[in-house]
Amino acid sequence: MKLFLTIQRDVVKRPLISQVVLETGVLINVERAHIDSNEGWVLIDIPEKEEVRITARFIELGVQVKKLENAVVHDEHECVECGACLSICPQEVFSFDQEFHLVIKEDRCILCGQCVCACPHQALSIRQ
Ligand code: SF4
Ligand code: SF4
Repeated sequence: MKLFLTIQRDVVKRPLISQVVLETGVLINVERAHIDSNEGWVLIDIPEKEEVRITARFIELGVQVKKLENAVVHDEHECVECGACLSICPQEVFSFDQEFHLVIKEDRCILCGQCVCACPHQALSIRQ
């Protein structure tokens, strides 16, 4: 499962993720991140059973934590099932079923936004 961490200016220079890994023993996979000298955000992937423990520890350290759910918004009325999103998504979020209907595994999404740009019918958006 994925958590979206927002890190404010006063704690951004601390090695927060390393600290949580060392303290909890939970391996944290960093999937995307943007951090500068002032603030930043990090998208992490953790085992589902560790959600409560990891979330609580980050909050104690001054990090805002949001569980990433329903990240990909798909407008079925606009979709023409052209397959452009399948081709461009780096995480294989999209596939076709046997009837060539679009299947979306949104728990794989890393919020890169490439599918939104690629869709010729503006049928996709990303909820962050
Ligand atoms: S790119 Fe857009 S129109 Fe094409 S299959 Fe994906 S969501 Fe549907
Ligand atoms: S935002 Fe990126 S990772 Fe998520 S579904 Fe679109 S292309 Fe795939």
